[in-house]
Amino acid sequence: MADYRALEALLTRIDGAGYGAYKRLQGTWAFPDFTLHVEHVQGDPFAAPSRLRVSVPQEVARFPADLFSNKPRRIALEDFLVRKLAMEIPRCTKGSRGSGHSGEFSVVDFGQCILPRTAVAVSEEKVEAVISCGLPAAGRRILGRQAREMLLSELPELVRRALFYRNLDPQAVRRHVECGEDAEALRAQLYERDLVAFVAEGAILPRASGVSDRPLRTGAIPFVPPESLAVTLERPNGGPIRGMGIPTGVTLIVGGGYHGKSTLLSALAQGVYNHIPGDGREYVVTRREAVVIRAEDGRFVCGVDISPFISNLPNGTDTHRFTSQNASGSTSQAANIIEALEVGAKVLLVDEDTSATNFMIRDERMQALVSKDKEPITPFIDRVRQLYQELGVSTVLVMGGSGDYFEVADTVIMMDAYRPRDVTEEAKRIARKLGHPRKQEGGERFGHFLPRVVDLASIQPRTRKGRLKVQGSRMALRLGNYTIDLSRVHQFAEVGQVRAVGYLLAWLAEQGHKLGTDGPVGEVLSALERKLEEEGLVSFLPARYGDLAQPRRFEIAIALNRLRTLRLRDGSL
Ligand code: ADP
Ligand code: MG
Repeated sequence: MADYRALEALLTRIDGAGYGAYKRLQGTWAFPDFTLHVEHVQGDPFAAPSRLRVSVPQEVARFPADLFSNKPRRIALEDFLVRKLAMEIPRCTKGSRGSGHSGEFSVVDFGQCILPRTAVAVSEEKVEAVISCGLPAAGRRILGRQAREMLLSELPELVRRALFYRNLDPQAVRRHVECGEDAEALRAQLYERDLVAFVAEGAILPRASGVSDRPLRTGAIPFVPPESLAVTLERPNGGPIRGMGIPTGVTLIVGGGYHGKSTLLSALAQGVYNHIPGDGREYVVTRREAVVIRAEDGRFVCGVDISPFISNLPNGTDTHRFTSQNASGSTSQAANIIEALEVGAKVLLVDEDTSATNFMIRDERMQALVSKDKEPITPFIDRVRQLYQELGVSTVLVMGGSGDYFEVADTVIMMDAYRPRDVTEEAKRIARKLGHPRKQEGGERFGHFLPRVVDLASIQPRTRKGRLKVQGSRMALRLGNYTIDLSRVHQFAEVGQVRAVGYLLAWLAEQGHKLGTDGPVGEVLSALERKLEEEGLVSFLPARYGDLAQPRRFEIAIALNRLRTLRLRDGSL
């Protein structure tokens, strides 16, 4: 293996040469404290930056074994190190020098969640990190001196500061790791205690702004659990913790406008992921199988059996295999529910703000005026209990606008100036006082819906020239020649998950047969998720990319279902 002195000599030699000479950096270079793998060299200074992987042996990095002794701890430690790298880059590197991205180091973008990512990997043998680097040039002429400065002085300094345990704040590392492990343990207790979610006393739910996921710093009112819903769970590190437990079943969140209903629901939606210490929601946990459901008019729908909610459309469309290039508010919301159930959703999170009214309610007066045989929609209110009783699927629903739901709710929580109150008894009393119960429509049973078998070959991840193309943003995933609209999808925690979904779909298209199942989409995604848990995201990638974060199977399904080339295998489409 060539060493850093050879790298230095090479950079001196190619100073002033054309940019293409940088390709000679590709390969492995031994440094005194670590190994540098130059995995990808960019084609020009304006292209996506070059990819470096540094590998520090544990004899040098010296992380105490208990910081990564189980999976939640290891993931939290790796998360800490990504953040540390991002923090140290501006401190120990000079940044932009030359054309395009010249001189810049960077790591993956991240948010408030602790997620499994490809950027850092800690094992008993070594600590590895993937770092992007804009190899410097003036125009297309190599700036050899600047490259030497970057790779031989700044990079080693960055590695020392961020990846050597002795240079970290030991308390901060420990707090991070313990926080991740505690959240994981809290979530596990939800299942034992028949809860769908837990919100700790003192949690800070509101965010700094509509475009920032950081906590609101001034004027945030800490969460206080109502006495009747208070439970105490155990944390392996932090000890017992008290908070509000949301039971399984149908839970209604009511209250006046601007009293914090949607903020609570959003916190529950994010509670499927763990959060960093100081986020305010680090002890707000929701079952992993919780999915946000909303209306999404205009979306593509491929052969979904929405008949439990919608049947007898006036144009005679078969709703057992509903397909639309341009679904309506109610049909899109129905499809969103069935697709979530298809891949194993056990908790539906629904907000009136983002729902189709005619999908949610159909009140007595409307029942009297428009008879059921003229209304294709069986509203959610008539299905929400059946979902729980027949399929074991709980719902948490924000509904400030209709009291009809009082009758079907098990728990009613009122947000009152950001403080929750348990008003279940009051709501039930009011429902009873009105005398006759609401006329239930749409039959006694939710029944079965037709499973879909997806033709994986209809996922087309390559461009017409045959190049694999995956580009992600918070709003969209670009796969091959097609764009998947994600602008109204809520549970991607960061853009790295979007890109990861792109590679996972590409893998499904080309190697999905290796999963050994050609059954319904739920089975395929369960098998994919199992492989993901066992072998990690890296095993699905064509190269060691550093900018990916692990999604849930629900996010994979969400992208798949919105891909307009999608076809079913049973020949029905
Ligand atoms: P609703 O859905 O009941 O209409 P929102 O959840 O949208 O209300 O909250 C309204 C506003 O109050 C938002 O700007 C939100 O950030 C803020 N807010 C929510 N919860 C709190 C809290 N606990 N403390 C302070 N402000 C809050
Ligand atoms: Mg709201």
